[in-house]
Amino acid sequence: MNAKDLSNRLQKAAEFVPPAAILADIGSDHAYLPVALMLQEKISYGIAGEVVTGPYESAKRQVAKNGLEEKIAVRLADGLEAVELADHVSAITICGMGGVLIRDILQRGKDKNRLSGKERLILQPNVGERQLRQWLVAEGYQIVDEAMIEENHKIYEIIVAEKTKTIPDYSAEELFFGPVLLVEKSPIFIKKWQHKLSKSETILASLHQSDQDVAEKIKEVAQEIEWIKEVLVDAGK
Ligand code: SAM
Repeated sequence: MNAKDLSNRLQKAAEFVPPAAILADIGSDHAYLPVALMLQEKISYGIAGEVVTGPYESAKRQVAKNGLEEKIAVRLADGLEAVELADHVSAITICGMGGVLIRDILQRGKDKNRLSGKERLILQPNVGERQLRQWLVAEGYQIVDEAMIEENHKIYEIIVAEKTKTIPDYSAEELFFGPVLLVEKSPIFIKKWQHKLSKSETILASLHQSDQDVAEKIKEVAQEIEWIKEVLVDAGK
């Protein structure tokens, strides 16, 4: 594959990176995202952060292979410790991890003063989208855009957030489905939630068979099923 080309999933995330950004890609196995964006002349500087040695070495090799050592720094670091305020990062991508892991990376970054609050966050959680949105909203971020992409029979969500003074008062359903995705109700959104509905109904049935104390879990799953059904009916499905 040409280094300028990205998978559909990473390409979709890349579309939300503002032109000429100073981009930090955290969890940058192979540095595919910053390398492609630099080759396409869409970013002005890149930082590829990786915590595991193997992927860090792969990222270094990819950057060197494309002659981008002066334009992309590859740093072995845990989460946002790969960046400093002096880097003047304007966009952060964190893709291909669980939402809770992404949330914890952001929280630790905030605690260690690695976030200026001026960065655009472009996040692609594999699961745990709700927990990630809850963190963003609690921390004063607005969800400015969202997207869904299907790749290799998996559906991924991309969440784009920026700090604002006035955060919309998101409902529990908006944090669950995604405020932008919920308005759009695209065919892929319907597909995801039809699939999730049948999975949740199976889970609920087995919870009802359980001899453990699962009353809270039953309430939670039943609520989700109700929301999903409402949304699908709303979309005429
Ligand atoms: N971002 C790429 C993508 O979306 O294709 C790679 C995704 S890969 C599944 C997740 C990567 O994140 C791995 O290379 C892993 O080592 C790295 N990672 C996990 N936790 C991390 C952390 N706390 N800081 C930096 N990198 C991390």
